[in-house]
Amino acid sequence: MSEAPTLPAGVHLLERGWLSSNNIVLTGPEGTAVVDSGYCTHTAQTLALVRGVLGERPLDQLANTHLHSDHCGGNAGLQDRYPLLQTLIPPGHAAQVRDWDAAALSYTPTGQSCPRFSVDALLLPGQEVNLAGELWQVHAAAGHDPHSVILFHAPSRTLISADALWENGFGVVFPGRCPARS
Ligand SMILES: [Zn+2]
Repeated sequence: MSEAPTLPAGVHLLERGWLSSNNIVLTGPEGTAVVDSGYCTHTAQTLALVRGVLGERPLDQLANTHLHSDHCGGNAGLQDRYPLLQTLIPPGHAAQVRDWDAAALSYTPTGQSCPRFSVDALLLPGQEVNLAGELWQVHAAAGHDPHSVILFHAPSRTLISADALWENGFGVVFPGRCPARS
């Protein structure tokens, strides 16, 4: 009988509802990190879920696999809550984030919102990044989003695939419009 896969120690999955990406919280003796931050209307929930894992520990790092609004909409809220937070993004749209070009970042054309956030460092494909004290490989993964990266932790063979990796491909696009925001 096969057993359900288990996550390595220090890797915590926050499973979210539409329209928010799931979040990964990484904890180790040397630090803490979150991968992707959900949609902006769910920021209060994101903060509560992250705090539920970290307790009183600060969040040291925030990494975005790509910059769709459901993956980085909580960035601004996390940066407000944790002022020393270091934010890492893929290099493809770094200039647009620094200049905050909401059209180039897809938010204006899609009618979605994303509060402005700052960036401190880049997740460069082909390199490794230290997240919460563990080295994760950064791989380019264009397709769902041309600038997306995926993260792989070789010792535990753990892949953070950015969006859904399933039998029909990479990423999910639901038909229809997003629900109206209040
Ligand atoms: Zn996406």
